[in-house]
Amino acid sequence: MATNSTHTFKAEITQLLDIITNSIYTNRDIFLRELVSNASDAMDKVRFLSASGTELADAEAELRIDITCDKDAHVITVADTGIGMTSEELVENIGTIAHSGSATFMAEAAKNGTKADSIIGRFGVGFYSVFMVAREVSITTRSGQPGATPVVWTSTGTGSYTIAEAEGDNPRGTTIRITLKDEATEFADPERLRSIIREHSNFVSFPIFVDGERVNTQPALWREPKFQITKEQYDDFYTFLTYDSKAPQDTLHIAVDAPVQFNALLFVPDMTSGNFFNDPEKYGLDLYVRRVLIARRHKDLIPQYLGFMRGVVDTEDLPLNISRETLQENLLIGKIRSTVTKQVLARLTKLAQDDADAYANFWRNHHKVFKLGYGDYANRDAFADLLRFNSSADADAEGLTSLADYVSRMKDGQKDIYFISGTSREAIRLNPHGEIFRRKGIEVLYLYEPIDEFILDALRQYKDHDLVAAEQADMAALDAFADAEDTAAAPEALGADDERTFEDMIATMKSILGERVEDVRISRRLKDSPACLVSPDGGMSSQMQKMLQIMSK
Ligand code: ADP
Ligand code: MG
Repeated sequence: MATNSTHTFKAEITQLLDIITNSIYTNRDIFLRELVSNASDAMDKVRFLSASGTELADAEAELRIDITCDKDAHVITVADTGIGMTSEELVENIGTIAHSGSATFMAEAAKNGTKADSIIGRFGVGFYSVFMVAREVSITTRSGQPGATPVVWTSTGTGSYTIAEAEGDNPRGTTIRITLKDEATEFADPERLRSIIREHSNFVSFPIFVDGERVNTQPALWREPKFQITKEQYDDFYTFLTYDSKAPQDTLHIAVDAPVQFNALLFVPDMTSGNFFNDPEKYGLDLYVRRVLIARRHKDLIPQYLGFMRGVVDTEDLPLNISRETLQENLLIGKIRSTVTKQVLARLTKLAQDDADAYANFWRNHHKVFKLGYGDYANRDAFADLLRFNSSADADAEGLTSLADYVSRMKDGQKDIYFISGTSREAIRLNPHGEIFRRKGIEVLYLYEPIDEFILDALRQYKDHDLVAAEQADMAALDAFADAEDTAAAPEALGADDERTFEDMIATMKSILGERVEDVRISRRLKDSPACLVSPDGGMSSQMQKMLQIMSK
């Protein structure tokens, strides 16, 4: 690449910069969080590469972040001894928007107009957030590749940037120099910078210095003994990890020795504020090997149905030089995953037993993802116990019933667990199949979401009880139960004249419906409704048929 070249930003970056520079912010502090996290990532890469034997320039350089500020010149610098960038990498990494934070931000910003302020703090907007405070930025960087040329990138964040060869003999790493906007000169204050770091970057695993003074203090929390850690420290770590402004709903800190050694610190986010952004496809836990970050949001560490969990796993048992590609086939990862899964399920089970309200809150937050667990056969019992449905026994549509609740309320002699699908409680009440259950006072689970029936179909049984769609219930078994006292008397038995009338009517209906039905029969299950559709014995429920039809289209 030619030295001293000028480049125009890609259209989407110009758009992002427009939003960033033209919004009014209540929380500009986070620009420092972003720069520090990039510095930390760059040093994680050094730690990772040197552990796997890659030769790097300045191999002996201490891994640290140095921040300085010049009150008079309104300048801040953020320097790291990380992996650095070549000029090609500068164009590639700083010139594109492929990385997650900014792309998500743009999508949200487009949805919400330019109210960037309300969303900017929630996920990493990345490097460009520096233009909330910067009039001009330069990046002086030298790649860790032996013999790489140091380069300088400069921009005012409007339209274009330049790249030139750096003067002097720069060591490996990156220095970001920020000339503050007039309305942001307050940031050129070491105390202000220290307090921002304590708030947002306290858990960065490399030392951070402001004007030579060490600021961040937190060790790798997950490696510390539990009894030494306060709730506040856990919450702070969670905020550091997720950028969520709300405390987590639950925290799970585990140390396991067999069959594989690992420490994990896991959180259940509390999404009730609606302030938490979660992409169901982007899940996973951060993987460390002996405190060295190997992969962020690694999917193989947790099943998707527990993908709402956030946190870190750190193991001694993997080699540091494991490549990200071979992680997937690694047996130890599979063992960590199954242990993590069991521990999380056990924790949720305990929460459900100890604090029904807290569990209900969890359920409302995360049931959509959690329900995907119906395929986890190894943990089917725990999964089934954690399920909640609305039920005819609940006072309203908000009520939550577990399968165990249902069983505890079963009638004497009742063997099966019954359910009906429908879009709402009202819709289900109008379903004629529910009538006999109401009359007999037999509880029915209400399934509002399409996935519910798949779940019950996959489970088939709970304890010794079959899970049965109301429309497929065994009528003889239901008839054996007396009508509930408060319902009106059963219809009178049919007389000979009635039989004949019905026979004529049924013959007429059969001839009208023809091939479309298998049979037309007199029903004993209905009282308030004139007719209902039933599936042949052993057939699929009508709801299931509808779903399969939709899916096969
Ligand atoms: P993200 O960190 O989510 O990838 P950023 O906008 O913060 O997005 O950074 C974009 C990219 O620029 C990074 O992925 C990295 O490749 C590069 N980068 C930024 N800062 C540094 C740095 N201090 N050292 C090395 N590379 C950096
Ligand atoms: Mg970043």
